[in-house]
Amino acid sequence: MESAEKTMKIKYERPVIQKLNTGLMNKFGTSTEIRPVIDIEGIPVSKLIQTYGSPLFVISESTIRKTYRKALKSFTARYPKVQFAWSYKTNYLNAVCRIFHQEGSWGEVVSGFEYDKALANGVPGEKIIFNGPNKTPDELRKAISNNSLIHIDHLDELYTLIEITRKEKSKARVAIRINMDTGIYPMWDRFGLNYENGRAWDAINKIMAVETLELTGLHTHIGTYMLSANAYKVAAEKMASLAVSIHRKYGKWIEYIDMGGGFPSGNNLKGAYLPGVDIVPPTDDFAEAITSALLNSEMDFNHLPTLILETGRALVDSAGYLLGTVIANKRLSDGRRATIIDVGVNILFTSFWYNHKISPAQEFSPFKENMELFGPLCMNIDVIRDSVMLPPLNKGDHVVIHNVGAYNMTQWMQFITLRPRVALIDTKGKSHVIRELESLDYINQLEQVPAHLIDENSE
Ligand SMILES: *Cc1c(COP(=O)(O)O)cnc(C)c1O
Repeated sequence: MESAEKTMKIKYERPVIQKLNTGLMNKFGTSTEIRPVIDIEGIPVSKLIQTYGSPLFVISESTIRKTYRKALKSFTARYPKVQFAWSYKTNYLNAVCRIFHQEGSWGEVVSGFEYDKALANGVPGEKIIFNGPNKTPDELRKAISNNSLIHIDHLDELYTLIEITRKEKSKARVAIRINMDTGIYPMWDRFGLNYENGRAWDAINKIMAVETLELTGLHTHIGTYMLSANAYKVAAEKMASLAVSIHRKYGKWIEYIDMGGGFPSGNNLKGAYLPGVDIVPPTDDFAEAITSALLNSEMDFNHLPTLILETGRALVDSAGYLLGTVIANKRLSDGRRATIIDVGVNILFTSFWYNHKISPAQEFSPFKENMELFGPLCMNIDVIRDSVMLPPLNKGDHVVIHNVGAYNMTQWMQFITLRPRVALIDTKGKSHVIRELESLDYINQLEQVPAHLIDENSE
């Protein structure tokens, strides 16, 4: 009992002083001060909307490059071999992917469609990481012949790979995805094989026993929008311990440890008291947790694995803006102000879990009011913000929605309205269309009307 108490002694933690970005308290709590956002990188919002229409997604190339370089530096300053791989599902617009590839990022894909997109963007096969639970035999064959890195999700996939490679007398470079207890619950245990119950180790041994498979690395992706750097430390320690076990048993050091993504962006999670910028740990904290765990492990320093990171949202969210226009104002039954804008939840998917920061795009009076912001869809769920303090906005005014670069331009739905244009502002301040406005023709291209439903008189 006594000795247990001794070991239970709580570790001393250094106090941390951190500047908060929230404003003063008022009856609605703390709110960040609202300032108008008149332009994006020097181009007036009104001009962007005039040129490309409303709503409009705008992506800042220089923000992507700056964010990428800063994050990469956090890791390379602490660890000798680092490689980033761009998570396609986070934003797979070709122009965006190519910025990441120009910066040196590999491609990380989770479907055959994304795999082909990465190839078409010029990523060499051996620099594509193929993740996910659903890879068809044909897709696996293609990945094998391109020498890509195949991250095995389950034993059925392992058996398929054995069958294919033996039949075709080919060799596949594989890793396994590992899930584990990192102290964050609910635990993500549906992808990959579990560390604690020995399934991961079992899969490793199965792979080592097959002559057509080459175990190149170990992969994990412990969650998304993770606020705990310590969870990554725990995960990196477990990955390193597996690498050490592999070496002990087989005399082979794996080539890489892939720690996945999941670092948070500065977005405001619903239900959080403070804005994202105040609660999100800096990338340095994650880099420190991961790299120190790897360096302090028993892995041989001369055979340190490359550290791969598949960071998605943290690298692109802040580079994306969604511009919109006020359609109308009305008073709800309880007297509250409601403002309807032309941005619906079908193109702002992340509004389901974020309170996106919204700025008026023109000067306004100091008066502010609590209001509800609706989208244009004829659907009750189309609420962009259910309660937000903003100056009253007039019909025709513009708004800027911040931190929309991650997941919106992949998860958006064509629903009731057509999906808007996406513009890129390059590093010289010039704007380009990188995805066109959808059209009725584009939507109709895939549809067919059986002959008996075509009325001859209408032809
Ligand atoms: C989605 C995903 C990522 C990117 O996650 P973020 O939370 O956007 O950083 C990385 N790796 C894998 C395997 C993923 O599924």
